[in-house]
Amino acid sequence: MTSEVDVAVIGGGFSGTMAAVQLGRRGLKAALIDGSGRMGRGVAYSTREPAHVLNVRAEVMSAWPEDLEDFSRQVVAEGGTPKDFAERRRFGRYMDEVLGDALESGQVEPVAATAVRAQRQGDGWIVTLDDGRGIKARALVLAIGNQDPAPMPFAQGISPNRFVNNPWGPDARAADDRLAGTDKTVLLIGTGLTAVDHVLALDAHGHHGRITMLSRRGQVPRGHILYEPWPVEAQDVPLGNVLKVWRWLRKRAGQGNWRAAVDAMRPHTSMVWRSWDAEQQGRFMRHARPFWDVHRHRIATEVAERMKQLIGNGQLQIAAGRIKAMRETADGVEVEVCARGACKVETRTFDTVINCTGPLHAMEQTENPVIRQMLDDGLVAVDRIGIGLKVDETDRAGERVWAMGPVTKGNYWEIIAVPDIRGQAARVAEDIEMELK
Ligand SMILES: Cc1cc2nc3c(=O)[nH]c(=O)nc-3n(C[C@H](O)[C@H](O)[C@H](O)COP(=O)(O)OP(=O)(O)OC[C@H]3O[C@@H](n4cnc5c(N)ncnc54)[C@H](O)[C@@H]3O)c2cc1C
Repeated sequence: MTSEVDVAVIGGGFSGTMAAVQLGRRGLKAALIDGSGRMGRGVAYSTREPAHVLNVRAEVMSAWPEDLEDFSRQVVAEGGTPKDFAERRRFGRYMDEVLGDALESGQVEPVAATAVRAQRQGDGWIVTLDDGRGIKARALVLAIGNQDPAPMPFAQGISPNRFVNNPWGPDARAADDRLAGTDKTVLLIGTGLTAVDHVLALDAHGHHGRITMLSRRGQVPRGHILYEPWPVEAQDVPLGNVLKVWRWLRKRAGQGNWRAAVDAMRPHTSMVWRSWDAEQQGRFMRHARPFWDVHRHRIATEVAERMKQLIGNGQLQIAAGRIKAMRETADGVEVEVCARGACKVETRTFDTVINCTGPLHAMEQTENPVIRQMLDDGLVAVDRIGIGLKVDETDRAGERVWAMGPVTKGNYWEIIAVPDIRGQAARVAEDIEMELK
């Protein structure tokens, strides 16, 4: 059975949903394909956990680039303020409405399935789904989100109830539920936003055992505070060299509020990223990124406060070091860690270990079936440093195929948050409209 639409959008998280909705607004019929059960909300906003709040204020979370207060108006109507860090599930409900309106209009058709193949047919595409159905489309949008983390070689063979590789999957939710109310020890590998999410979920569910967050540098996202913006003009930002911009930014941060200095880079990050060659981009990824991430992608003020309390009462420990080995024992997972700056190896046993190191950054290793096949068939290609798909200035990844969201980070670097993606969705929809009409 094959249905026919103007555009097939693969992936129904924030990126794909906004692409489909924007296409619908332009009179194009879109099929929104997502078999995860999270259509509209995606990975980030399908959490059920009230302690998971947005990591930016409500005032910047509108789905619409032309109506920036759309979400914060709802928050205010419910007694909040635009400066609130609303619950992520509240934003999820907002996205349910955005998608619901589009479904009601008949312009967007939900398809609860996984796309396994996409092949050229005439000027357009035929997408094959895992249930055997086909969708014929004049254009294709790839909005598949972040890739699941790569398996950790040293964790091979450890049972999934002791070692959880995907921190956003059902095993991770089951681990948080299983640990609720217990004093069992937990190791979170990674000290970024994903690890913070797990600390919050465990804390909210009465877990009172020791949690260790471990990464090579032990850098944790900083907290938000209100500050006076301190914009910078594009022509003042050094281009072409990572070290040059890094030194300039550190100097500027030292002269005033560092948060204001870092956030002032937001309109310019893509320009800076593109001014670097592949070697400079690789250098940034290896050396600067861990520091950039924790200063740029901050946590809500109340989350930072709770983390501080947990560290203060000894329940949470932040460690810097490298894992040398791991094995399952009768008591849990025995982990050998080499602390940063020391060559001594310490061995500790944890009840549960969760991999919070972030998504797979090597697109060539993707196991997403449709992307794997499209790469193998030469229909799309990997970007020059291998972290996503190669796209042009209009986000075209090939003949009548566009890519959106985190898979385009090789082109923009920062295309992972709502304020960036909502603009990209509108631009992609406009480009598709021009192509098809
Ligand atoms: C935990 C978390 C919290 C965040 N918090 C914030 C925040 O507070 N503010 C902010 O601005 N940004 C935040 N972000 C960043 C950003 O909003 C999200 O990354 C963004 O929503 C990305 O959406 P996406 O649609 O590209 O990806 P995803 O949400 O991952 O959605 C992709 C979807 O595609 C589906 N898919 C993949 N392959 C196929 C296939 N072959 N066939 C069918 N479907 C497929 C997947 O199942 C998934 O449902 C957060 C991100 C995360 C992970």
